Amino acid sequence: MPLLILLLLASLIIGLVLAQHPWRRYQRKRIMQQAFPASWRAILKQRMPYFRALPADLQLQLKKHMQVFIAEKRFIGCEGVTVTDEMRVTIAAQACLLLLNRPDYYYPKLQQILIYPAAFVVHGQAADAAGVVSEQRRVLSGESWGQGKVVLSWQDALQGAAQPHDGRNVVIHEFAHQLDQEKGQATGAPQLSRSNDYQQWSAVMQQAFDQLQLQTANGERGLLDGYGATNPAEFFAVISEVFFEQPEPLQTQYPALYQQLSQFYRINPLSWQ
Ligand SMILES: [Zn+2]
Repeated sequence: MPLLILLLLASLIIGLVLAQHPWRRYQRKRIMQQAFPASWRAILKQRMPYFRALPADLQLQLKKHMQVFIAEKRFIGCEGVTVTDEMRVTIAAQACLLLLNRPDYYYPKLQQILIYPAAFVVHGQAADAAGVVSEQRRVLSGESWGQGKVVLSWQDALQGAAQPHDGRNVVIHEFAHQLDQEKGQATGAPQLSRSNDYQQWSAVMQQAFDQLQLQTANGERGLLDGYGATNPAEFFAVISEVFFEQPEPLQTQYPALYQQLSQFYRINPLSWQ
């Protein structure tokens, strides 16, 4: 008899897990059918000049993605921040740019977005080549955790939205890490789109990464920020910022890289100019 109960319980649990996906889909559909609040539209207009550059169909898609994103993720204020709609909308709009043409995908591991008023300090340990571990104090504008968290400086998120063509955007940077971290640790090799070819992707990335490392070692400054030379994960986050914000020079200077990113992100920002 206890075995029968166990079997019943097990099938109930399996049933619940299987039913969760269609249920979630249904909920998302309902959220997307709701009208986009007029106050959110006003915030987009005021804070997100990038939005106006998007073609009409992508504007609509972005708004629907934002509605789901805001409904599903928890925004938490830190160091005295009271979370406002202005913060939710400005951050969601930038984070959802990376989700365009990706139906029913909303950073599945991510649960919380922590918002600090400005750049924040993190303490950690680092070991040098001789194995000496030292305490480090770093000032950050954003951080992406593998375990369901993104941390952002509101001041930097706001500034990133206000300057859509400088190739710097902390929200795009951290959420590119989230895409990368979906399969585990960030490695600069996220789960690729069907149209990407893994071999080609890794050859193109490696070549551009090596080139940036060399440039940075020689003290040269170019289109890509030297921070991208830190490791392949940072490289992917840095080129994502440039792909969205400076597609023209990226396509001119790194055509193969642009093509890979265009396939990965399923958009062609060049055609919007
Ligand atoms: Zn990073």
